[in-house]
Amino acid sequence: MRIDLHTHSAASDGTDTPGDLVRAAKAAGLDVVGLTDHDAMSGWDAAARVADEVGITLVPGLEISTSLRHRGVHLLAYLPDPTHPPLVAALDRILTGRTERTPAIVDALRDHGIDITEDDVRREAGGSVAAGRPHVADALVRLGVSSDRTQAFTDLLNPGRPGYANRYAAPLEDMIPLVTDAGGVAVIAHPWGRSGASVLDLESLSHLRDLGLAGIEVDHQDHSSADRAELRGIARDLDLIITGSSDHHGLGKVDHDLGVNTTDPEQYERLVSHASSRA
Ligand code: AMP
Ligand code: FE
Ligand code: FE
Ligand code: ZN
Repeated sequence: MRIDLHTHSAASDGTDTPGDLVRAAKAAGLDVVGLTDHDAMSGWDAAARVADEVGITLVPGLEISTSLRHRGVHLLAYLPDPTHPPLVAALDRILTGRTERTPAIVDALRDHGIDITEDDVRREAGGSVAAGRPHVADALVRLGVSSDRTQAFTDLLNPGRPGYANRYAAPLEDMIPLVTDAGGVAVIAHPWGRSGASVLDLESLSHLRDLGLAGIEVDHQDHSSADRAELRGIARDLDLIITGSSDHHGLGKVDHDLGVNTTDPEQYERLVSHASSRA
């Protein structure tokens, strides 16, 4: 069984439609694929239809923008009730923050002498409900300002760069119980990736487990082999589910091919039964 529990479609900042993403997962030899768009569940239906068609198991999920002590933390939520009103409300607030940030980024880039408009970004965001910096990056590439997404982030969009603007993220300590109340399984994405490392130590993870955290993503491209070994040890000590995944974004992120990291079938079973035991 090959299981990849973290991927993005064009419903957020991946480049494949949800259906094409599921087809690509099948073609890559996966048996189970998790669709986890940023702050969005709008890809679920199309993905589920194609999953039925091609014969692959889809795990519907999302990756929620949260914060803990002023650091960004990405929270994966698997199998929540998509109609749970507090979840819908929390996502609305996050998506509004995304929409409102775009003009701030565009203004900052224009102040920096780059002739970019909100329409340029909207065009790249296409079918996405979660407008984000990757779409700004795509617009910068199309305008010939940057050579690819990575260069756009490094030169212009990362914190401290001229086109950076902050946006609202939901408090992690509220979102974990909220996801759990929605019948979902809360798993922290790439805990020691870009921004979260300093606030997600053993003590903090132990506290989050008491709030309902079910697992952590250990095998991820942002983690070195030393990080993975240490995180695996923490997960065992805290009895957290261990996941592994690609964080695939289609053509939007290099070195994140489908199945590049996978989740152990035993851990996957734990995750699914964690959701159904409360359903
Ligand atoms: P946002 O959520 O709009 O603030 O943008 C963050 C997203 O940008 C993350 O989810 C990543 O997928 C993507 N991202 C961050 N850095 C890079 C990079 N260097 N190259 C491509 N995508 C990136
Ligand atoms: Fe992303
Ligand atoms: Fe992430
Ligand atoms: Zn992701």
